[in-house]
Amino acid sequence: MSGPKERDIMYDSNGREKNKIEAGVLYLVATPIGNLADLSERAIKVLSEVDFIAAEDTRNTAKLLAYLGVSKPMVSYYQHNRVERGEVICQRLKDGESCALVTDAGTPAISDPGEDLVRQCAELGIKVTFVPGACAAIAALALSGLFTGRFAFEGFMSGAKGERRQRLEELSGEERTLIFYEAPHHLVSTLADFAEFFGDRKIALCRELTKLNEEIMRTTIFEAVKYYEQNSPRGEYVLIIEGKKKENLAFWLDFTPAEHVNFYIENGMDKNSAIKAAAKDRGVPKNEIYKEMIGK
Ligand code: SAM
Repeated sequence: MSGPKERDIMYDSNGREKNKIEAGVLYLVATPIGNLADLSERAIKVLSEVDFIAAEDTRNTAKLLAYLGVSKPMVSYYQHNRVERGEVICQRLKDGESCALVTDAGTPAISDPGEDLVRQCAELGIKVTFVPGACAAIAALALSGLFTGRFAFEGFMSGAKGERRQRLEELSGEERTLIFYEAPHHLVSTLADFAEFFGDRKIALCRELTKLNEEIMRTTIFEAVKYYEQNSPRGEYVLIIEGKKKENLAFWLDFTPAEHVNFYIENGMDKNSAIKAAAKDRGVPKNEIYKEMIGK
């Protein structure tokens, strides 16, 4: 078998040169999530040849460009300047310049700035194209060992307690595999919330992907709670949780209410949360569990 001819690689079927930077186009360029060697040949070409780069943090991107030996004008594009800066970027694109959008790591627009800029471009008829690369969510899902056929990406949980609990309540019946991003300083409380709303499901904690200390811990939520009582979370995490299964619902069926509450306490919950979780499993009010426990 012969390999592809150089002509096939360099030109498409219309004779247009492939990978040529087009005027007036926004390129979403995924950057490495840890290992700089993951930057693709095409990404390097685009970053080297566009007219300017819009970066979430220009200092971070300056380091990447220095590693590549590329020097390029940059503008910042982040959460708090995205509306006005988006307009400026769109105007420059309409005037015929080409732009690469990059974030600090991974795929722009996925829990990162970019989705608004893509929308603005779409509304103005500006072409947007994609230069694929790492996305922590997809890497973790692939590594999780859990069912990957149907999944729901949830990104970061809200920092507001009420909002977070409402979201978890909604998700507790979700049958698809769930994907969450989490920072190390929130991991312990997030795992406690997961224990309360999801019970002892399988979880994969995917840490520092593509970095020197990459680690995939495939365990259950209760075991993860116990582990992080003894060990400090370090680095960046993606948490993959199996979706609801019928057998996940029924583990407590043979328990008395008191045994049910104790089960949760033994798995790291405080008494109040344990009563709430047992009440939720049984579909009864909290005070009913409480009364049963004190024998009334
Ligand atoms: N757009 C990025 C992507 O495509 O992966 C995600 C950006 S989001 C602001 C950052 C979060 O992604 C981190 O808090 C962590 O949850 C996850 N993440 C990024 N890099 C990671 C890595 N190397 N290992 C594990 N999780 C990572």
